[in-house]
This record gives sequence, structure tokens and C-alpha cells, in this order.
Amino acid sequence: MHELFDEKWLTLDREQIWHPYTSMHDPLPVYPVVSASGVRLKLANGQELIDGMSSWWAAIHGYNHPVLNEAVIQQIDRMSHVMFGGITHQPAIQLAELLLDLAPASLNRIFFSDSGSVSVEVAIKMAVQYWYALGQPQKSRLLTIRSGYHGDTFAAMSVCDPVTGMHEMFTHMLPQHYFAPAPGCRFEEPFIESDIEPLRQLLADHHSETCAVILEPVVQGAGGMRIYSPVYLQRVRELCDEFNTLLILDEIATAFGRTGKMFACEHAGIEPDIMCIGKGLTGGYMSLAATLTNTKVSDGISSGVTGVFMHGPTFMANPLACAVAFASVNLLLNSHWQERVSRIESQLREELASCLTISGVADVRVLGAIGVVECHDPVNVGDLQKKFVQRGVWIRPFGKLVYIMPPYIISREDLTRLTNAIVDVLA
Ligand SMILES: *Cc1c(COP(=O)(O)O)cnc(C)c1O
Repeated sequence: MHELFDEKWLTLDREQIWHPYTSMHDPLPVYPVVSASGVRLKLANGQELIDGMSSWWAAIHGYNHPVLNEAVIQQIDRMSHVMFGGITHQPAIQLAELLLDLAPASLNRIFFSDSGSVSVEVAIKMAVQYWYALGQPQKSRLLTIRSGYHGDTFAAMSVCDPVTGMHEMFTHMLPQHYFAPAPGCRFEEPFIESDIEPLRQLLADHHSETCAVILEPVVQGAGGMRIYSPVYLQRVRELCDEFNTLLILDEIATAFGRTGKMFACEHAGIEPDIMCIGKGLTGGYMSLAATLTNTKVSDGISSGVTGVFMHGPTFMANPLACAVAFASVNLLLNSHWQERVSRIESQLREELASCLTISGVADVRVLGAIGVVECHDPVNVGDLQKKFVQRGVWIRPFGKLVYIMPPYIISREDLTRLTNAIVDVLA
């Protein structure tokens, strides 16, 4: 073991700490990481792993980036946190301006929060409060599509895929919303108009109770890693207008260039009424998220009976997180991110294609810096993870899916090591 990591800590970890979606009786093995730099995670035994996960979509510039480190240091010397009730600060103001400038043009109001799930809760509250303010409190249901993922808090859970959402035991406590089937048409295929029919029918039947349609644009993340036609999204926007309901886009996984566009909704050329961002916002340094909206929604809420928007987390607009987010977004804008992401995309297409010849593999899909291999049956996560670590890469599958979304700075050689490991391990 490493000088910085004592073996007994692993025992303490096993006995005391819950990791995501694990049991305390039969915990999956965890790998102690002592440092991370560029696209490499360093384990306590000295081994280095090439990171294929960007720490769940977040570390878009890789780890230990000098520009981001400097932003944190500069800010921590001024102040790390102050409450946002009755107080404001430059890190929040300049980040807000940058994000609203970058986001679809109609979005010009922003609410900061501390995690993606909370930004989804906030988006849902905005939609409900908007219709309440307009004298239509019965418009309080949501409509979504299957295979979605929007977070683990209660309102967010209620719009996750009911099957893959891992939330079955809470179903009786969750508000009941409307689910259309997941879009069938793939990103690159011609759109089939009948694909949108079930969603149209649900809206036609229930628009008078529906405050908003919520979905992940173009790429569905943790609910199934599906990549669908942007025309579907255009139809959803048209239907929301036709049936007088708001459109919430959850860009928490897709924003900041991951799909080849700054925001995934740009593939469809549409704008939402409310948009959630998180994950890559701080380049993976800190937890920060935001909910953006347009003046229609903010005016509606503000001119209602109460007039105020009812939310305010303790760590709202944390200055350290805002400062590093500002640095991270600028770093992205000043990099050749489109070239990098499209280079990753073509390499993923080329190198993952051979997976289709492996007997257990059902599908391969790629968009931007996202590569997905879907198997016929659920994989053994612990077993596969171990094999990946033996091959010097960090890839964490779930369900039937083995997928990667590496930091944009990854070199051609390192990306090949990731894709080779996938082909190798699955074969
Ligand atoms: C990860 C994710 C969330 C939840 O974000 P947390 O920061 O984990 O709360 C919500 N929506 C999407 C699309 C995500 O990928």
C-alpha cells in the first residue's frame, strides 16, 4: 500500500461507509485512490488507471488542472462561503452572466443549487408554481419518457424510469406522473412520425393537469444510455406549445460539450422553458448545479399571489464552487473542445464497432464523447470492474451497459487503451 493509505482504512470503509447503491452486508470492493492527474487515477498500490468515466460526467478537463486549482486557491483566500440570503458576491454574478450568455437565448434567469437532483426539484417547483400563480393549480402533474434518469431525491425519482430507476419500493410514496415510451428512433436514423404518437396522446388526454414535460435531450443517461433522434425533441417542443405546457430539459449529463454541442438541445435547434445543469459545471471540482429559466416563467411566478420562489439551499451559490465553475467554463470555451469531442467521437465509432461481433453484445452507440456497449444480459459489475482495473483502466458498468465518457483531454493512445479493454473484457 501507498505511504498515504493505511490498509486498515479499507476495513473501516467496509464496516462504516455506504457507497452508492450498495449493501453494508456484501459491499462490492472499492479501490482506494490517493491522487489524480490528467486522465489518470493513482491507486494506493501505486497502479495508475486511465479514467473512462470523468467521475460520472463531471471531470471534463481531467484531474488536478492548474487553471482550476488556481481558481480555487484565489477564491479560498477571499472567502470560501457566505450565505446567499440577503448577500451577493462576484463569483455568483459573473458565473450567472457567463452561463446565461452561453445557454439558449430565451433563458435569462438562474437559480443556483448544490446538486443535480436539487436542480431538478427546483425545476419542478418552478413549473408547479408557475401554473399556480396563473390560477391553474390543477396543472401539477409531469409527463416524461421511459428510460430517463433525473436524480435520487423524491420529486426527481418520480420521473425516473419506473423499472431501471431502482426506486420501486418508494413507488407508493411518489407523486404519480405520466410516462410515454422511450423514443424508438436512433440519433442517426430518419425520424418516424409514429414515434411521437404515444406522447401526443398522453398530452392530448392530460394537458389540463400537466405542468411540464421533463426529459433528457437526445442522450438519456443513467436510465439506459439511449441516444435518440433530435426530431423527436423538436416534436416534443411543438406539442408543449400546442398543449400549453412547459418544457423542462435536464442537461445535467449532456451540457458542456459532451454530445458534440455545448448543450444537447442544440442538436434539435429548440429551447426549453426550464433547463437543469450540474455535473460538468465545475469541471468535477465541487458540487454545484443550476436551474435556468425564461422571463415567461419567472414573470409568471413573480406576479403570483405569493410572488416569491420557494427555495433556498444553505450552500446556494457557494463562492468556491462558483469561482471554479467560472474558470472551468472559460477553460472549455478557450479550448478546441469541438475538435476534441469530434475526434473522440470518430475514434469511439471506429474502435468500439468490433464489439458488435462479440456474442453477448446487443448494441453499440456513440455520440460525442460518449461510447456505449449494451449487452444482452446484465453484467457482473464487480467482476468486470476487476478485469478493467487489471488492464489499467477505470470503467464502471451498470445493468447491461458498459460505457465510457472520458475527459476531453484524453490522448488517442489512452482512448485506445480504454476501447481495447472493453473489447477484450467483453470478448
Ligand atoms: C446525475 C444526474 C442527475 C442527478 O444529479 P446529482 O448531482 O447526482 O444529484 C440528474 N439528471 C441527470 C440527467 C443526471 O445525469
